[in-house]
Amino acid sequence: MMEKMRAMVMVASGKPLLPLLIPVPQPTAGQVLLKVHACGVCRTDLHVLDGDLPHPKLPLILGHEVVGEVVTLGEGVSGLTAGARVGVPWLGYTDGTCRFCLQEQENLCDAARFTGYTLDGGYAEYAVADARYTFPMAPEDDPAEQAPLLCAGLIGYRAYRLAGVHAFRIGVYGFGAAAHILAQVAVHQSREVYAFTRPGDIVTQAFARQLGAVWAGDSNVLPPEPLDAAIIFAPVGALVPLALRAVIKGGVVVCAGIHMSEIPAFPYNLLWEERHILSVANLTRRDGEEFLALAPRVPVHTTVQRYSLTEANAALDDLRHGRFEGAAVLVI
Ligand SMILES: [Zn+2]
Ligand SMILES: [Zn+2]
Repeated sequence: MMEKMRAMVMVASGKPLLPLLIPVPQPTAGQVLLKVHACGVCRTDLHVLDGDLPHPKLPLILGHEVVGEVVTLGEGVSGLTAGARVGVPWLGYTDGTCRFCLQEQENLCDAARFTGYTLDGGYAEYAVADARYTFPMAPEDDPAEQAPLLCAGLIGYRAYRLAGVHAFRIGVYGFGAAAHILAQVAVHQSREVYAFTRPGDIVTQAFARQLGAVWAGDSNVLPPEPLDAAIIFAPVGALVPLALRAVIKGGVVVCAGIHMSEIPAFPYNLLWEERHILSVANLTRRDGEEFLALAPRVPVHTTVQRYSLTEANAALDDLRHGRFEGAAVLVI
């Protein structure tokens, strides 16, 4: 096997990733070594790169939507064999012993480690992952189209679940990678999707309608019907009062991003009548199992913008400026 691999490496906040030739990591006990086939580019990668999220591992290989093939197994790995296709999500390790882990809230684990943030991720030819936090993926499908399922899909699904089983009219603020997957799930479950985009972004509004949204419009206008729930994917705090204004009594506003600009002050009457706001943090492995079982039944089709590994900086820049519909993926 190769001893060196190509990787796009973050060396400091706010600096472009560097294309480097570095040693192929070796799996320790419980880990697998993967040949990476594809890795999604997520908005969280921008937050890590920009320094919005504190204390990343440095130097760091970004990327937490990793689809690859098992090459070698570390000591003690069971249930996986060489050649198997697996996916690696954001949640890369939990201790299994803290109060949150013991209450089926491993997404809140005190000692969690995260792929592409506090652990190296998938912007590279090879990656190691703790075998217990990998998901089996269908080997016949296009790995580039699978990659966005691993964060955009999973986090979107967790947000959707927290919007409540009775939410029929669901507003989505920010129609990017997560929303374009979630919309397909919601339509499949006979719910109505209302898509909100940056004001004037008629291209994304058309994309949302094409995926089954009953309405698509600017984020600063009210939808034609009051919403039962709203999910905010855009990292824009000013959307919180706008979304509260759009939901009915008892309705929920779910903030699905890991980072958001400051939420402006708003009058209490927007929250009154038992409207509530909550955030979604990370994922549990159960979210992954549920969502990855559901996706082929919908079936979810991801729209992907493909880049080579060395085009990672361009992919991040295009994501930052909203230059494509769907999800960006590095094909490696
Ligand atoms: Zn824990
Ligand atoms: Zn992500």
